Parts: sequence; C-alpha cells; structure tokens
Amino acid sequence: MSLPPDLLTTLEAALGPEFVLTDDVALEAHSVDGLRRGARPPDAVVRPGTAEDVRRVLMACSAARVPVVPRGAGTGYSGGAVPTRGGVVLAMDRFDRIVEIDEENLLAVVQPNVITGVLQAEVERRGLFYPPDPASLDRSALGGNVAECAGGPRAFKYGTTRHYVLGLEAVLPTGDIIRTGGRTVKNVVGYDLTQLLIGSEGTLAVVTEIVLRLLPKPPSVVTLRATFANVGEAADAVTRLVRERAVPAALELVDGVSLDAVAAHLEDRSLAPAGTGALLLIEVDGMDASVDEEATRVARACFDAGATDVQRAQSEEERQRLWRARRELSPALKALAPAKLNHDVVVPKGLIPRLFTLVADLSASHGLLIPCFGHAGDGNIHVNIMADPDQPGQMERARLAERHLLEGVVALGGSISGEHGIGFTKAQFLGLQLSPEVIALMRRIKRAFDPCDILNPGKIFPDAEV
Ligand SMILES: Cc1cc2nc3c(=O)[nH]c(=O)nc-3n(C[C@H](O)[C@H](O)[C@H](O)COP(=O)(O)OP(=O)(O)OC[C@H]3O[C@@H](n4cnc5c(N)ncnc54)[C@H](O)[C@@H]3O)c2cc1C
Repeated sequence: MSLPPDLLTTLEAALGPEFVLTDDVALEAHSVDGLRRGARPPDAVVRPGTAEDVRRVLMACSAARVPVVPRGAGTGYSGGAVPTRGGVVLAMDRFDRIVEIDEENLLAVVQPNVITGVLQAEVERRGLFYPPDPASLDRSALGGNVAECAGGPRAFKYGTTRHYVLGLEAVLPTGDIIRTGGRTVKNVVGYDLTQLLIGSEGTLAVVTEIVLRLLPKPPSVVTLRATFANVGEAADAVTRLVRERAVPAALELVDGVSLDAVAAHLEDRSLAPAGTGALLLIEVDGMDASVDEEATRVARACFDAGATDVQRAQSEEERQRLWRARRELSPALKALAPAKLNHDVVVPKGLIPRLFTLVADLSASHGLLIPCFGHAGDGNIHVNIMADPDQPGQMERARLAERHLLEGVVALGGSISGEHGIGFTKAQFLGLQLSPEVIALMRRIKRAFDPCDILNPGKIFPDAEV
C-alpha cells in the first residue's frame, strides 16, 4: 500500500520530521526480524518518544486505516515485527530508559526498549535478579520480551517473562492510554489485562512502560556439562532429574548434529569428548551448601542415565565457555543448509524421549537434517528443519516434515510454540492447536481492542479477516 498523502504530514507534525523516516535504508532495516525474513517493507518508520506520541500515531493511522507494526529490537523469530501489508512501523527504540529500581519493594520500572541484558546487569550490581534469559538477551528488548512472553534456560526453575510482569502502561489502537496491574504481586481486581497483553505479539496494544518483579540474586551457581553417547540417554537423564525432585535453574539439551555444527562454527573440537551424541548443560543455584548437594545429585542422575562424562565449571571463564557453545547454536546451524524452518515446540517433560523419536523418524523419512537443542527442563525444544531450496523437492519435503512435526507435538499434548510466538510464519498452523471456538473468541478480543484492525494485522490469525 502507499500512504494517504496527508498522513505523512500529520505524523511529521505530531512527532517532528526527524522522527518520521521514509528513506530506503530505514524501510529495508525495518522490514525483517531475527529470521531475516521479510514480507512487505513498510511505507514509513516512525520513532515516538512518549506514550502521547504513540497515541497520536495510532489515532492518525486509525483514521486513515493504515496498518501499524510495533517493533522492539527486531530479534523476533516468527515475523511479529515484520510488516505484511506495508504501512507504518512504530519503532520503539527511543523508549530505552530504566525509570526506577525499587530495592525495597523488589521491582523495576522500565521503558520497553531497555535491552534485557542491560536490566539484568544493572539489577545484579545491586544484589538483585531478573531471571528471564532468552538467548538473545544481549539484543532483545523487554517490550519485545513482554509481547512474545520470552523465556530461556532459567524458565524451568523461575518461569518466563509473564511471571515477572506486575503492571503495564499501554496505548490502545483507539488512542486510549491505559494502566494495567500495578506494583504489587497480589492484585485480583477485575480481569487480568496485564496477562492478556503479555504474549499478544503487538496485536492488542503498544506497551510504553513495564513494572517488573525482581528477586534477590542467588549467591552461588554451579554449572555442569554432562555428555552422552546419544540423545535418548540425555533425555532419560532429564526424566531422572525431575523424578529426583532436582530443580536446576537451567537444563539445556544439545543433540549431536547441533554439537558438530557449533564445534565447526567456533573451530573448537574440545566442547565435548569425541563420540558425544548429546550433551546437557545444567546450572544449579541457591545457597552454597544446597547448591553443592544438588549438583552432586544432578551428576549422579546423569551417570545413572549413562553419561560418559560430567564436568563442573571451575571458574566464571569456564562457565561462560560452556554457555557460549549453547548461545552460538543459532548462527552455527546456518552452515548446515541455506534454509531453516525453525520451531520451538513444547511437550510435557516426561514425553521428551517421544519427541526425539518423532524427530528421528521425520529426519529419516524425509531425508533431512533436523538438529535439535533447547530447554529440556521445561520440554521446550528448538527443532530446526534444514533444507536447501536449490535441491529439487527439498523445500517441499521440509514443509511436509514441519506439518507432521507440529501435528505430532499436538498429539503428544504439547504446544506448537513455547516462546517465539505465532507471528505470520506460523499463523497457518494455529488451528492445529486451538479449536474454532477458541479462535473465534480470540478474534472477538482482538476486535474489542482494535476495532479498525490497524495494529499488527496479519499476525497470529491464519487470514487477513478479523
Ligand atoms: C539468536 C536468537 C536467540 C533467541 N533466543 C530466544 C530464547 O531463548 N527465548 C525466546 O523467548 N526468544 C528467543 N529469541 C527470539 C526473540 O529474541 C524474542 O522473541 C524477543 O522477545 C523479541 O524481542 P524484540 O525486542 O527483538 O522484539 P521484536 O522482534 O522487535 O518484536 C517481537 C514482537 O513484539 C511486538 N512488540 C515489540 N515491542 C512492542 C511494544 N513495545 N509493544 C507492543 N508490542 C511490541 C512486535 O510487534 C512483535 O510482534 C531469539 C532470537 C534470536 C535472534
């Protein structure tokens, strides 16, 4: 679409011309997300600085029926910040301030484009702790984390973003500026709109301020790396750990194909002993004495499941080295094939071995590499279907494997997305998991917030109509 002629003038008058961009470089930069996959470049990018600015943009675009796509740091993995119909990208990068850290009440008030890792470092300097830790934490923004309900390795023990949001300030597409929740952990007045907005992928409202719950920082952390001959034994170790009632802060699994890819990418063959078919990265945290006892129990459960080696990081440097192998997995997989159909499926923890059997069957029957890694502790595994579009029939086979994977996950009682959201890349699969009645109810909620369907249209729902 091209914008109505007077809309740009209205936006420039509202924000100042320097905050309304229409040059090709800006449009290109705001047309893709973490998957580097675009749909339709925007016609303009606006950079509001206040909630009032956001309100003005939404009112103007509502009147002109022009789509508005909120954007945080653009690291999303499902196309949520990618315009599908052109229109205006609402870049939130000027909202980058930590407004307050309230040590007495264990909370922080932040603007949405504070980078996750920046807040974490800031609170940790004060002996406090903000647990949600997506692997993208050095780049992703807290507003994007809220909109996607981001999670990470620590979700097993500490939960995801939704467990730390106490309140929000948000601007509705109609122009209303609302506050939901508050500054208290307990709050049961009316419907919980805070939780409704979390994970709504920028389709209901634009978040302009976030109140986050903090914890005291655990004084001690032990990191273990357990290696196994195959992924079945690693998955068995996860089941044994849960049965042992161990609650590690992180419990990450990397399969053999992913391990080879990351070793090649980092040019480091010492990440695991030769012959390793899977590894678990396990972190336990808490008081010194309890951490030691729990680490011993964890190591024993791993050996009982058949671990070939369990190594304990002896220094912060060694700990970071172990984690680097996990964090570099996404770029490492790029060398395996030009295209990656990336899924973050979830199954009940006890069914992880069944998920790996399903993936092995799909890999064999479709003749595709399918490396897997992820948050084994909460059953959330990143399944990456690799394909080369230049090889005849490979993309078709990958698409078929993708559908069979998602159908299999739903049949196991799982979920087609644990943290990346639906965006536009997975909208076609929504009906695999949700009933027509539930989808219809969600559409009615969308319409109540956004009667003109201007806010991030074409996301979550499988078609353009809302
Ligand atoms: C290497 C890599 C590793 C990753 N690892 C993880 C992981 O471990 N766990 C995980 O959960 N995710 C992970 N991700 C995905 C991504 O980082 C998260 O989804 C993150 O929360 C997105 O934040 P963002 O600021 O980049 O949001 P964006 O990509 O900019 O936007 C994401 C969605 O949020 C909406 N949005 C953004 N800001 C606002 C706002 N202020 N108000 C309303 N809506 C808004 C957008 O419209 C869009 O729908 C990873 C991505 C990469 C590239």
